[in-house]
Amino acid sequence: MDLSRTPEEEEFRTRLRTWLAAVLPTLPARPSPDDWPGRRAYDLRWQRMLYDAGYADVHWDASPTVRMIFLEETERAGAPYVGANFVGLLHAGPTIAAEGTADQRARWLPPILRGEQVWCQGFSEPDAGSDLASLRTRARRDGDHYVVTGSKIWTSHAEVADWCELLVRTDPAAPRHRGITWLALPMDAEGVTVRPLRTLAGSAEFAEVFLDEVRVPVANRVGEENDGWRVTMVTLSFERGTAFVGEVVACRRVLGELASAARENGRWDDPVLRRRLGRLDAEFRALWRLTQWNVSEAEANGGVPGVGGSVFKLRYSHARQELYDAAAEVLGPDCLDLDRPWVLDRLSSLSYTIAAGTSQIQRGIVAERILGLPRGR
Ligand SMILES: Cc1cc2nc3c(=O)[nH]c(=O)nc-3n(C[C@H](O)[C@H](O)[C@H](O)COP(=O)(O)OP(=O)(O)OC[C@H]3O[C@@H](n4cnc5c(N)ncnc54)[C@H](O)[C@@H]3O)c2cc1C
Repeated sequence: MDLSRTPEEEEFRTRLRTWLAAVLPTLPARPSPDDWPGRRAYDLRWQRMLYDAGYADVHWDASPTVRMIFLEETERAGAPYVGANFVGLLHAGPTIAAEGTADQRARWLPPILRGEQVWCQGFSEPDAGSDLASLRTRARRDGDHYVVTGSKIWTSHAEVADWCELLVRTDPAAPRHRGITWLALPMDAEGVTVRPLRTLAGSAEFAEVFLDEVRVPVANRVGEENDGWRVTMVTLSFERGTAFVGEVVACRRVLGELASAARENGRWDDPVLRRRLGRLDAEFRALWRLTQWNVSEAEANGGVPGVGGSVFKLRYSHARQELYDAAAEVLGPDCLDLDRPWVLDRLSSLSYTIAAGTSQIQRGIVAERILGLPRGR
């Protein structure tokens, strides 16, 4: 892994920093956390600004070092993160780039980069979460269409999505992993019903999606029919390996804010809290190094992250929870006030050890595929 900075990379940093300083003050106020149409508009507008300035494809095409510089600088400047279209930008888009045909890449990738379309992920079902290969949403072939019937759950941002990366069962007779196909589903197709689900924090950030005889053109299939499990592994490697990297930089910023707040409200005098924040600082520095290693490894692997993504996902999701528990300690009784900084983030941090594959599942992957331990029953 070579992450030394060339003059061109330092020039990229300076140019980006100057651009951010000029454009960020022109952005409107951020919409409230539960205003999903407003958040969609805000996030797509920011993506369009990145596109016009030539930064839109940094997550896909830039070298690891340039990508890291981009994340460091945007976070340092307090720029918006990818937001409502994280599926499109961070895993559906990269999957289509890696597995789609030339026509599919030309059809779907430019609108994602230009901030015109939002994607969601239709993988989980009521009876298929950790054991994703047991999914039952059925797609039957009818000429040049698939006719899809079934239901999905926990579909983040489905309410404001234009497209869905959808897993369907195309061959019920085949062994479970061999009868699955990856489709791009237009969310406005006839027969698609979205029913929002409200979280502990009161936000409708995800939904149930019901599919009733939905006709999806065969041209929307990414990969071969019944080869969807392999394509899914590509999607999940992006989701676990590189989709969270920008958040590590944000966590390091929050850690600095916690130290400042503790100094102001007197909690800094507590040596146990200071030690806790110090240990978290070391943890996030180590995670940043691991991130660099994973991104660098992905570059060497044709852009697709490897199994190291599971190590990162496992450690990062727990560190994030510990960070916001430390925030509660700094806040004291105010940690029960949802309007205080970090309180909603603390609630949502609980979901990190479940979303994108639970910690138990990541431990199983690390045990079998990295440590070479025997398969669990
Ligand atoms: C915030 C959030 C956003 C999400 N967004 C999406 C989305 O956009 N699209 C989507 O498709 N899904 C999404 N999900 C769903 C997520 O992928 C699933 O919740 C996750 O895969 C776990 O599946 P499950 O909820 O069915 O739990 P289950 O699989 O039923 O697991 C229940 C418990 O059993 C444990 N367990 C299960 N199998 C094993 C095993 N083999 N070994 C050890 N322990 C095991 C699990 O770790 C867990 O503790 C989201 C989830 C969250 C929390």
